[in-house]
Amino acid sequence: MLSVVICCYNEAKVLPIFHKRLMAVLKTLSIHHEVLYVNDGSRDGTLSLLDGYCQTPGVRCLNLSRNFGKEAAMVAGLDYAAGNAVLFIDADLQDPPELIPLMVHHWLAGSDIVNMQRRSRLSDTSSKRISAHLYYKLMNFLADKFDVPADVSDFRLIGPAPLAALRAMPERTRFMKGLISWLGFNTIELPYDREPRSAGLSKWGPLALIDLGIEGVLALSRKPLRWFSLLSLVIFVATLVFLIHQMSVSTVSSHHVIMGIAAFIALGIAMIGEYLGATLSEVRQRPIYLLNNLLGEAPKRPEHTCPTPPREQEKH
Ligand code: UDP
Ligand code: MG
Repeated sequence: MLSVVICCYNEAKVLPIFHKRLMAVLKTLSIHHEVLYVNDGSRDGTLSLLDGYCQTPGVRCLNLSRNFGKEAAMVAGLDYAAGNAVLFIDADLQDPPELIPLMVHHWLAGSDIVNMQRRSRLSDTSSKRISAHLYYKLMNFLADKFDVPADVSDFRLIGPAPLAALRAMPERTRFMKGLISWLGFNTIELPYDREPRSAGLSKWGPLALIDLGIEGVLALSRKPLRWFSLLSLVIFVATLVFLIHQMSVSTVSSHHVIMGIAAFIALGIAMIGEYLGATLSEVRQRPIYLLNNLLGEAPKRPEHTCPTPPREQEKH
């Protein structure tokens, strides 16, 4: 059984056409499936539209208590999906629902994870293209023993084994792209043309993207801390040599060097603060999201499959 999970935040303009296209495609699938919308605190008419769709059997909606962000909304979807496999798709029609049968085909043919990879970024601005390129370079440099494939969106199918692994991960800070790469398993990337957003606005401004990038680094790698330790050692030795030299000559002013070192230390403290902040979120053990209510009926499962229960601590 396949659960199609759609996170929605203020998508009322595009939802009717998205839902129509999705249902038309799902009708053609030969496997058992359900549709699970996650309303991530929308303030437009999204919830009432979803309420209407949930009158159809096989369509449910998790209504979160407020906007928690897409990563948290995806965790809610993972927790409550009844299927053995989960397929994430955006509501704005940038990910064509018509590609779902192809993804299912690759899953049934043996791939544990089917990632959809955008063929080109021609629809993006040049600044977004350059920053995305640098971002993936940095990610792959930081991530030790696994690759974060470039230009892979959240449009993906996750099969039973990686799904169970993802659900068992205890961490609060979620960076799905990195976690999926970390999992390993038999993964395939299928190229696709990502359409421009059909209606409404993107929720990701430059600041939100920088924030996501920093969270990604903090979640994936301790390398920056190690670099800082090594650099500190080099600077410590260099300073020692300089001071010994100063003592013998005692002519050159040292305050420029001290300013440089102070700036370096400030950078290090800021970096340690970021990691400490990330650790704090983990230690606090706060739920990733809160559920207000669940709309629609739980799907009837075929006899031969067995459900993976959602994590108990996040059910409210
Ligand atoms: N989304 C969400 N919560 C948020 C932001 C976005 O559930 O806080 C959903 C949004 O409704 C859409 C998907 O995540 O279905 C992708 O968002 P968007 O199109 O804004 O991102 P972009 O495609 O620009 O990266
Ligand atoms: Mg989009």
